[in-house]
Amino acid sequence: MALIVHKYGGTSMGSTERIRNVAKRVAKWHRAGHQMVVVPSAMSGETNRLLGLAKELQPAKADDAVLRELDMLASTGEQVSVGLLALALQAEGVPAVSYAGWQVPVHTNSAYTKARIDSIEDQRVRKDLAAGKVVVITGFQGVDETGNITTLGRGGSDTSAVAVAAAMKAAECLIYTDVDGVYTTDPRVVPEARRLSTVSFEEMLEMASMGSKVLQIRSVEFAGKYQVPLRVLSSFTPWDIPIAEEAASGTLITFEEDEKMEQAVVSGIAFNRDEAKISILGVPDRPGIAYQILGAVADANIEVDVIIQNVSHEGKTDFSFTVHRNDYARTVDVLKTKVAASLGTDRIEGDTKICKVSIVGIGMRSHVGIASKMFRALSEEGINIQMISTSEIKTSVVIDEKYMELAVRALHRAFDLDQPAA
Ligand code: ASP
Ligand code: MG
Repeated sequence: MALIVHKYGGTSMGSTERIRNVAKRVAKWHRAGHQMVVVPSAMSGETNRLLGLAKELQPAKADDAVLRELDMLASTGEQVSVGLLALALQAEGVPAVSYAGWQVPVHTNSAYTKARIDSIEDQRVRKDLAAGKVVVITGFQGVDETGNITTLGRGGSDTSAVAVAAAMKAAECLIYTDVDGVYTTDPRVVPEARRLSTVSFEEMLEMASMGSKVLQIRSVEFAGKYQVPLRVLSSFTPWDIPIAEEAASGTLITFEEDEKMEQAVVSGIAFNRDEAKISILGVPDRPGIAYQILGAVADANIEVDVIIQNVSHEGKTDFSFTVHRNDYARTVDVLKTKVAASLGTDRIEGDTKICKVSIVGIGMRSHVGIASKMFRALSEEGINIQMISTSEIKTSVVIDEKYMELAVRALHRAFDLDQPAA
């Protein structure tokens, strides 16, 4: 008897037939005596459809007034889902009630289209659970201080589910999705990729931030911060498989490092094509420059990833960093309008045809020579490295996007990830 949170992605919610299957699965857990909270995404394709409509009417601007309406619009996808799922549960004979984010409420800040959850009130949900109901809560959305509807960014339902699990102190948060767990890399790129039965929270964080699309990164941050036990598992298994079997499937995100000590040094290869590189050439090499550049970018609410500043020559240096491709034009604009004049340079260059490839593993902490093995594997394929960044448990390189798949395959092989762990 435990409080369990289930999250279902858009594919699982893609049709009334599939929603009925979700309801049957949830009903199975409910009948086994668990208190169930379910957080679904919008039906697959729905968020894109809604945002597509918006684009037809307002293609150009993205100020706060526009972003507010995008959230108003996009949040409806999840509202449809929770209503349908609660109806399907009731049809299965399970008492169920659905809530939109503002009804729970899920409190967020006011950063429309990428809001962050501040807190979640649990009284209303607890009351329903105590009354024997399954509670269905919209993913992806919340409400700000002044009552405006906000959304959490694409893929945000994962974060909603984990945040609800944290607020309710759930025993486990199960993320049902169209893959059956976390893999050593994307199997579409490397068919030999293997499913990991466990992955540490820190590795998962790196892989999610590196573009392994299984979970939204904020959901992993949340899980780490509040130590929410998290499992990623397939929504395509028959709904009536035994609970014990279902509860042990997929990939468990662990917090115990010791369990992993015996395993491979590198656990996975992550990659993404979502970033763009920006360089400012001829920047004066004096204190405060990085702050001047990146402070202006941060003020525009743009996240920066890899950063490089070169050794200076005659008091001048080059400064490069990457941002999300969607933020590329806006970043260049900020630099030109807010930064260039005071730096005394307008030589701003951009490259959107890059990708980032990373090796990730907590074993890297206790092993040397891992990065050089990575560089060798890339050099043997003739791939030029443009930027490098490292942390304790990962090494990332920025390369030309046309070599992405080649690089991922070479690294997967170089680190023996296609061999079952010893
Ligand atoms: N429906 C939203 C999206 O497509 C949120 C989610 O699916 O997690 O991004
Ligand atoms: Mg998703």
